[in-house]
Amino acid sequence: MKGSIVFMLLLTWLSGVQLHAKSDYRLYYTPSWRQGGMINAFVYPTDGIEKASFAFLQLNEKRTARARGQGFPYVVKKAKKREIYLFLVGISALAPADRYQLEVSLTLKDGREVVLRSDELEVESGNYRHQTIQMGKQGQSAISNQSAERQAQAKRFYAALGRFEPQALYDVGRWDLPVTGKSWYYTSRYGAQREFVYPDGSRSRDFHNGEDFGGLAVGSDVLAVADGLVVLAENRVVTGYTVIVMHAPGFFSLYYHMNGIDVVDGTMVRRGQRVGGIGATGFATGPHLHLTAYNQGQEVDPQWLFQHPLINEPWLTTLLQSLKISKRGS
Ligand SMILES: [Zn+2]
Repeated sequence: MKGSIVFMLLLTWLSGVQLHAKSDYRLYYTPSWRQGGMINAFVYPTDGIEKASFAFLQLNEKRTARARGQGFPYVVKKAKKREIYLFLVGISALAPADRYQLEVSLTLKDGREVVLRSDELEVESGNYRHQTIQMGKQGQSAISNQSAERQAQAKRFYAALGRFEPQALYDVGRWDLPVTGKSWYYTSRYGAQREFVYPDGSRSRDFHNGEDFGGLAVGSDVLAVADGLVVLAENRVVTGYTVIVMHAPGFFSLYYHMNGIDVVDGTMVRRGQRVGGIGATGFATGPHLHLTAYNQGQEVDPQWLFQHPLINEPWLTTLLQSLKISKRGS
């Protein structure tokens, strides 16, 4: 008799532990997944979480990760300042339109690992253009500057883009346009995939990872799309006068081919502030601005950021307010 009571208690305790681990943390996410777009996802509650990462998995045989990154704690002010663990997931135009699953791995302060998975959802096509271009003999010689200087520049460039600082929440709103006036037009769009076929049968691919703004006089204003910290400002072999602005953890805007730079590395810029002038420096065929949106290894469509805030506060607030809050251990 005594033994069975102990056994029952043990069972209750064990199942309690399991329930605890399973039910405590929930993963929520914006369900509209599109090539070139972004997903807001979060885990709630956050107590006991030491760190967390995500993998955005294409559900083919290998469950190929098309994006990986880290999450960070974020306070939703309008939802009673509740803290969530937020994940900003970028979907490149290069991620095939297919079924995907978002997987989040939590490392808890007590050393346990918890893995949470989303539903399996379809990534919609962004209808980006594919082109095959037949090249002549002259096209065979590609850009081949392998100078030490160029390599050092590449190192600094990727070091800047590799920065992930959980406190770096400078501006999570929708982007403003980086150019003004009425004369400008897009000269090349984000997502265009061009395949070059050479006379010897070899092929190379080119993916346009940003938006090009042309039709502007050299020296015209190039403006910061949002508030942020300048993490790189230099003249580069490939991208000419270049500025990178950090807006949020792992999230940046990049400005290429300018005729000069008006901001200083390591300083803050405000949205609408001039960062440089329109130019044709680096590998550029004419004066234009190339603007890239970069999130933890993925280049996403700047149009997504012109149309959506980086962090969807109304969605977070509404969702959090609708959740029944249960205290841990109750
Ligand atoms: Zn471009």
